[in-house]
Amino acid sequence: MTIDAIVIGSGIGGLVTATQLAAKGAKVLVLERYLIPGGSAGYFERQGYRFDVGASMIFGLGQNGTTNLLTRALSAVNVSQEAIADPVQIHYHLPQGLDLKVDRVYEKFLQNLTAHFPHEEQGIRRFYDECQKVFKCLNSMDLLSLEEPRYLLRVFFQHPLACLGLVKYLPQNAGDVARRYIKDPQLLKFIDMECYCWSVVPSDMTPMINAGMVFSDRHYGGVNYPKGGVGQIAQKLVEGLEKAGGKIQYQARVTKILIEQGKAVGVQLANGEVYRGKRIVSNATRWDTFAQLLPADEMPDNEKKWQQNYQKSPSFLSLHIGIKESVLPTGTECHHILLEDWEKMTAAEGTVFVSIPTLLDPDLAPNGYHIIHAFTPHWIDDWQELSPSEYEAKKEEAAWRIIDRLEKIFPGLDAGLDYLEVGTPRTHRRFLGREDGTYGPIPRRKLWGLLNMPFNRTAISGLYCVGDSTFPGQGLNAVAFSGFACAHRIAVDLGF
Ligand SMILES: Cc1cc2nc3c(=O)[nH]c(=O)nc-3n(C[C@H](O)[C@H](O)[C@H](O)COP(=O)(O)OP(=O)(O)OC[C@H]3O[C@@H](n4cnc5c(N)ncnc54)[C@H](O)[C@@H]3O)c2cc1C
Repeated sequence: MTIDAIVIGSGIGGLVTATQLAAKGAKVLVLERYLIPGGSAGYFERQGYRFDVGASMIFGLGQNGTTNLLTRALSAVNVSQEAIADPVQIHYHLPQGLDLKVDRVYEKFLQNLTAHFPHEEQGIRRFYDECQKVFKCLNSMDLLSLEEPRYLLRVFFQHPLACLGLVKYLPQNAGDVARRYIKDPQLLKFIDMECYCWSVVPSDMTPMINAGMVFSDRHYGGVNYPKGGVGQIAQKLVEGLEKAGGKIQYQARVTKILIEQGKAVGVQLANGEVYRGKRIVSNATRWDTFAQLLPADEMPDNEKKWQQNYQKSPSFLSLHIGIKESVLPTGTECHHILLEDWEKMTAAEGTVFVSIPTLLDPDLAPNGYHIIHAFTPHWIDDWQELSPSEYEAKKEEAAWRIIDRLEKIFPGLDAGLDYLEVGTPRTHRRFLGREDGTYGPIPRRKLWGLLNMPFNRTAISGLYCVGDSTFPGQGLNAVAFSGFACAHRIAVDLGF
């Protein structure tokens, strides 16, 4: 069988590329180094608990519009995923008593925020309304490859105003737009946190396109939790891939992308096996693709330039906790963000992210228990060169520092603890196959919005990248966008 496309990795970006191509009739092979699909959207099971390894605040599972890319990717291969609506996106516990819930209903969210900053009522509305404008443009058109001129022309003629709107926002960052309308320094810090909690950079460095998407879709398609855990999305995509005639092979670690006469023609696995295909897609990060799978000393100039603009974000220290149900008062929200000092927002162990998926899907834990996934940024450099006992001791100390802080919002957490497993940047590197365990690329300095983020084609003929180190960046719905775009570009290149 001649393989049309080999996809290295079964993260959501890789799987959306693979399923989209298979749905168009292409012969697709996915090679995944781990035992199950999903990458950062995978899961693991311990003592009756099913923990998400990373993502848990899921956009893109809505029913309407065009930005519900996970729903659309699943239905393209005739599978579906039950989604549980989350009524509140985040419950923030921030400095200076800023305790605030982001309600699914837009007006209610604006009221909650205005109650803390009544003097900024107009500025708040103007800023978030401007985000809605971006979203409305995006949500009116098919989201495919911006590298395909005929598609761009078609979309432009169908939606000229939306396209012009998006072109205007493409080079802008959310912080600049916020500062046009808002003056209160604490409110601007809050906008920083609104961005930081998914872009891991403050608002000045967060592209307006991404902010418009996140700040609006949460009130439109909403944040939804997949029944059975986040891992279900990848499992369902694999089911759809196989139904459509595609193949996936696990424990298949690609060690080399084969290049002949300047063109990517195949891959070699750790066990020496070689597969050849018409097109090669890497769902590994750009750092892994261009320095591990290809010779680092032959890195194309545009990749070197990209690395001058973007750096690896930190990884995370993750606590996967099982607790007695009695610890959580009735009405507790699923997602929380905790920060006690604005100055520490971007520091290691500054912001703590919390997800309690069992509040939406109790079946993920044994009866009478809940899951808490708490994670906070950490750099791999702090976890290197430790003996096994030093490593274990450091993990334990760090975990208890986080638990002590969480006690303030969940009193009794320590006493109600049933299970605790700690992951470090080393864990993320090892199990997710991501250099330094990074969450993804972040700008080294303030850039022009999304203008510097690369699309799917690379400088090497026949080689494409997909996932969070391509346009438009991190997050499941974002990498699904990248997958749609990548498959579209390849399908056009191969004549499907
Ligand atoms: C702690 C944490 C919390 C997060 N929370 C959220 C959230 O709430 N909401 C949200 O939308 N996003 C969240 N994210 C981000 C989101 O999970 C990622 O942006 C997204 O899953 C990345 O998808 P991807 O397709 O780019 O790649 P990945 O998920 O990194 O998948 C890449 C796949 O490729 C495989 N692979 C790599 N190299 C090779 C190789 N050489 N050979 C074979 N296979 C290989 C890997 O094993 C992996 O399966 C979170 C991430 C983390 C880590």
